[in-house]
Amino acid sequence: MTEQMKPSPVTEEVQLLNVTEEIVRGLVSFTIHGPDYPTFCRCQKCELDICAITLNHLDNHFVTTKEEREKVYAILKTPDSIEQINKQIIHAIHIVSHKSGH
Ligand SMILES: [Zn+2]
Repeated sequence: MTEQMKPSPVTEEVQLLNVTEEIVRGLVSFTIHGPDYPTFCRCQKCELDICAITLNHLDNHFVTTKEEREKVYAILKTPDSIEQINKQIIHAIHIVSHKSGH
């Protein structure tokens, strides 16, 4: 960890990131904590179950750099794309609300 004390301008921070997951997690949290689903269970299990079901119905968009992330993020944040993602989230909320045993 002490290696990170000297930042290098050449070595960009590289990590494996699924941009779809990033966006879905944000939207799911926003949706189930918003006014549309006041009676929906807001425990972490239900929230993550919704994320899992939603993500299983969407294409992954893995990237490794910040630049790639921003490009893909811009594409996935278009109104058409958000509408598709929201459809899957609402579908997942219905599934989880029916099978949640608590
Ligand atoms: Zn729950």
